[in-house]
Amino acid sequence: MQVSPQDEEFRRRVREWLAENLTGRFAGLRGAGGPGREHEAHDERVAWNRHLAAAGWTCLGWPAEHGGHGATLAQQVIFYEEYARSGAPARVGYLGEELLGPTLIAFGTPEQQRRFLPAIAAVEELWCQGYSEPGAGSDLAAVSTTARLVKGEGESGGGQWVITGQKVWTSLAVEADWCFVLARTQPGSRRGEGLSYLLVPMRQEGITVRPIRQLTGTSEFNEVFFDGARTERDLVVGEVGDGWRVARATLAFERGVATLGQQIGFERELNRLVDEAKRTGAARDPLLAGKLARAWIGLEVMRAHALRVLAADPATATGAEPSVLKLLWSRWHQDLGELAMEVLGAPSMVARGAPYDLDDWQRLFLFSRADTIYGGSDEIQRGIIAERALGLPRQARS
Ligand SMILES: Cc1cc2nc3c(=O)[nH]c(=O)nc-3n(C[C@H](O)[C@H](O)[C@H](O)COP(=O)(O)OP(=O)(O)OC[C@H]3O[C@@H](n4cnc5c(N)ncnc54)[C@H](O)[C@@H]3O)c2cc1C
Repeated sequence: MQVSPQDEEFRRRVREWLAENLTGRFAGLRGAGGPGREHEAHDERVAWNRHLAAAGWTCLGWPAEHGGHGATLAQQVIFYEEYARSGAPARVGYLGEELLGPTLIAFGTPEQQRRFLPAIAAVEELWCQGYSEPGAGSDLAAVSTTARLVKGEGESGGGQWVITGQKVWTSLAVEADWCFVLARTQPGSRRGEGLSYLLVPMRQEGITVRPIRQLTGTSEFNEVFFDGARTERDLVVGEVGDGWRVARATLAFERGVATLGQQIGFERELNRLVDEAKRTGAARDPLLAGKLARAWIGLEVMRAHALRVLAADPATATGAEPSVLKLLWSRWHQDLGELAMEVLGAPSMVARGAPYDLDDWQRLFLFSRADTIYGGSDEIQRGIIAERALGLPRQARS
């Protein structure tokens, strides 16, 4: 990636702003939040994110006409790097900013863009993603939640969608104001046909959110029950019945520039583990030292691959590149969790306090079990690579 003098100036501005603003009431937020720890200081992190937004540090890559800053790829990478390096807390508006926003910019009507994008950019409304169901995970086209149009109802009298079904593993649904929901709007349709992409308000009678307790003892994802939930007729993104195409576009946005920020977060974790290994003397064990060195090499490989993919011309891509990246980081992070347990030794097997008070390393180890599942499981990614990079026959879906 080419970095110009302007980019270096941009880096300086980001770094200075973060150093000046992660102080006072926000100083205690350093390192808070993130996978397995989203419960930490949630309200304070919302306030921090609004503070970031007010200073123009959200939605950097969105076009200016949609409330973004039209930042170059290099600038976005720099922002994520500096953000992670500063130890600033995990972002709360990720699903709106990185997934729904770009989808609305690509497929939304001007009214939808005006209604939703400013509130995402200002972190005034939080979103969750309603795709997976008990019978539709890897095989997402098996979605069975239905939405039926009832004419003549709703705010404008133009009609409303009535939604019935269940979603599961819905991250951050408890905190979300809205959900983008993949639902079957054509009765009797199968697979990717007859699905629509609906924007549904979460705070209504027809929706019940039930948190799922995870291995970490925390509850970030949830079951979401739609029991006659409603949304306005015009809150369909793309055409009615074309939701599969829109939903897949959202998934492609999921693997964007934020990956680099995630990698800086990984680097910080590895650095902390190296410090821990030095402090406890574990680093003198040649086997552990070798594993720490391997982890460092893995980070270098990941970063080089991510930069190459992000800067590549889409016309020359096989479509397997994001899957390679997903496999690299998911396995790497799980290995890091396991390595942390080895570095800490026997005490890592005992909770720090009753009844289930885990430290950061234990939580990382347990939560990273999920890394090879969400965002497309390892098996699914390998299937994509087999098809797209190697030209092997497409595997049958269940
Ligand atoms: C932390 C976390 C957060 C999540 N957040 C959200 C969210 O916000 N919104 C949302 O909609 N979903 C979310 N999910 C759900 C996630 O997308 C699914 O868990 C994932 O798609 C896998 O689906 P599944 O759990 O139904 O497993 P299944 O699809 O039932 O898979 C079970 C096992 O079978 C394997 N398998 C399945 N099909 C094949 C195949 N064709 N070939 C080879 N192996 C196969 C899988 O790899 C896996 O090992 C989240 C999941 C996690 C873990």
